[in-house]
Amino acid sequence: MAINLELPKKLDNTIDQARQAALQIFRPISRKYDLAEHTYPVELDTLASLYSGLAATGQAGAGAAGGRGDANKERPEGYVANGGNMQSVLNSMWASYGDVALMLSIPYQGLGNAAIAAVATDEQLEMLGGGDEVWASMAITEPSFGSDSAAVTTTAIADGDEYVLNGEKIFVTAGSRASHIVVWASVDRSLGRAAIKSFVVPREHPGVTIVRLEHKLGIRASDTAVIRFEDCRIPKEYLLGSPEVDVKKGFGGVMQTFDNTRPMVAAMAVGVSRAALEELRKLLEDAGVEIDYDRPAADQSAAAAEFIRLEADWEASYLLTLRAAWMADNKEPNSLQASMSKAKAGRTGTDVTNKAVELASTYGYSERTLLEKWARDSKILDIFEGTQQIQQLIIARRVLGKSSAELK
Ligand SMILES: Cc1cc2nc3c(=O)[nH]c(=O)nc-3n(C[C@H](O)[C@H](O)[C@H](O)COP(=O)(O)OP(=O)(O)OC[C@H]3O[C@@H](n4cnc5c(N)ncnc54)[C@H](O)[C@@H]3O)c2cc1C
Repeated sequence: MAINLELPKKLDNTIDQARQAALQIFRPISRKYDLAEHTYPVELDTLASLYSGLAATGQAGAGAAGGRGDANKERPEGYVANGGNMQSVLNSMWASYGDVALMLSIPYQGLGNAAIAAVATDEQLEMLGGGDEVWASMAITEPSFGSDSAAVTTTAIADGDEYVLNGEKIFVTAGSRASHIVVWASVDRSLGRAAIKSFVVPREHPGVTIVRLEHKLGIRASDTAVIRFEDCRIPKEYLLGSPEVDVKKGFGGVMQTFDNTRPMVAAMAVGVSRAALEELRKLLEDAGVEIDYDRPAADQSAAAAEFIRLEADWEASYLLTLRAAWMADNKEPNSLQASMSKAKAGRTGTDVTNKAVELASTYGYSERTLLEKWARDSKILDIFEGTQQIQQLIIARRVLGKSSAELK
């Protein structure tokens, strides 16, 4: 059977809109907000209204909580769903082609939105205004852990019709700007990882304090917050997914959110590395380097051969990312493919953007182009939502059929 690697025509609009935003809104203000770290890019308000329009017509993807979209509908035989996840991934990809930090700052497109789309019930989505009135950041990491998501110490103790949250979350992307925070907390620490659940908490709510913002190497236009929860009471309905603690099942429920968010982060790496490749191609051509796809790379100049190798890695990252999103839309278990996309794209993102600086040399290292910025911005995409090493560990476990206790 022939494999058709083309995207369905109905997604052209999504890509066009995101590319236009990337080139016309993001690129012109990229440097300005990189230098003015923590300043809210007001230009993004225009995009917020554009996205709420798209969400209303079902074109904005899981990031806008439209992700569940048509996933549960009955379909004719042979129907191929390319729903919310694919749209989200394409949105992330082409918006990041403009600027990753600004992409992470687009209202109503938070990683928490994809988490909500992954696990919220229909009633919860309705309670949250269909999801498109919610801009959700994602708060997992704590001062005591990063990679080991099972080590959550923040607690959410049931008290009547409410949960009472206590704890501190660090490095929360969009934490000070988003309207809501998806918080991972334990409902009973004595029951281990199975008791970890995610909760939607309004940011402006008694007991929620934004302690400070981080200064960073890259994605400087994106706010990264430390958030403290002190006797923060939320209605019981704000627990996402099932409240039951099933010690046999572990914490698959919350981990499921990564199946949606990892392909999105992979897409960001695909977007920023596409930008770097295009800029590099221009610079190489201006310098008289010919890239010839009809000749073996080994017969060409070192720069051309390197460029061809980088493009091949980019293509692999792109296809792995689309596959992971396609599987999520088609309700196929995709944890392995989500990690594969993130591992490959995360590494390719840093590789391509750093090689672009290297090949463009003084020009690439200076602020005359955005190449040095893209090299700084791309590193985080190989760290958050699970580092390169953690993705490799998950892939190895799944391929070898080992449990987390057997392969650490
Ligand atoms: C800019 C920025 C934004 C972020 N945004 C968010 C956010 O929105 N929400 C959120 O919850 N978190 C966020 N984070 C946190 C991020 O997810 C963590 O930094 C990441 O999970 C790694 O955790 P850590 O930094 O504690 O590193 P550690 O877990 O301490 O790891 C340190 C090193 O050891 C490696 N390592 C760890 N365990 C293993 C293992 N078993 N085998 C092999 N190697 C291993 C890691 O890969 C890493 O290289 C953000 C971080 C940054 C820098």
